[in-house]
Amino acid sequence: MLKIENLHAEIDGTEILKGLTLTVNAGEVHAIMGPNGAGKSTLGYVLGGRPGYEVTAGSVTFGEVDLLDLAPHERAAAGLFLGFQYPVEIPGVSNVQFLRESLNAQRANRDEKPLSGGEFLKLARAEAAKLDMDAEMLKRPVNVGFSGGEKKRNEMVQMGIIQPRLAILDETDSGLDIDALRIVGDGINRIMREPTKAVILITHYQRLLDYVEPDFVHVLADGRITRTGGKELAHELEAQGYGAVAA
Ligand code: ADP
Ligand code: MG
Repeated sequence: MLKIENLHAEIDGTEILKGLTLTVNAGEVHAIMGPNGAGKSTLGYVLGGRPGYEVTAGSVTFGEVDLLDLAPHERAAAGLFLGFQYPVEIPGVSNVQFLRESLNAQRANRDEKPLSGGEFLKLARAEAAKLDMDAEMLKRPVNVGFSGGEKKRNEMVQMGIIQPRLAILDETDSGLDIDALRIVGDGINRIMREPTKAVILITHYQRLLDYVEPDFVHVLADGRITRTGGKELAHELEAQGYGAVAA
């Protein structure tokens, strides 16, 4: 589904990704762990197409297409979803408006009819309920004044509505208490654990992986994948730290 080969990328002339190679097949969950500043969020941004990140070498194929050739909205339409480490607040745009526009843009891309306001609200309420989110929050401006945990939950509601093929979730577990962690973990499994879908879970901690079992755990250090293993690698990292394991 996703094939990243020898990816090099820089920001403002500083090289951050230094030859990153990773293959993700449909049906798989990959965890990416690594020290602060290793380039984990940069990888998500480069795949999402955030301006300011320049790819200087390497390739990324998503399905059959050259991902790097697509504009950000075309990547989303192709089924890529990026869950942000720090979800953005959008004052003046209600959560329902935002989600409905997002979904209908994707439906248009698939030659499906747009959902009406009523149809969409029903879907959004059902998704919010599955994530234990108060339906009132759908009416509020996107993420404005939401707690860290509420923002992450809201990202899962977005994901449930959009139903992406590949979700890249950047520290979705940060700022969550134990109950919210379980709800979000269950959400990832329910929405994304399908033979046609895949997940890249960027995380600092082993604990999310108790809820969402990864097929592979990778260490990202200094801009490349330095080790790959199974779930036990996450335990090893937690016990010994990145310094000992990553090198
Ligand atoms: P991680 O998510 O693994 O903690 P990031 O991808 O956020 O790491 O950051 C990787 C590196 O890129 C860090 O050293 C960070 O300081 C650097 N970086 C991020 N943004 C910029 C920028 N605009 N200019 C220069 N360096 C940057
Ligand atoms: Mg980060």
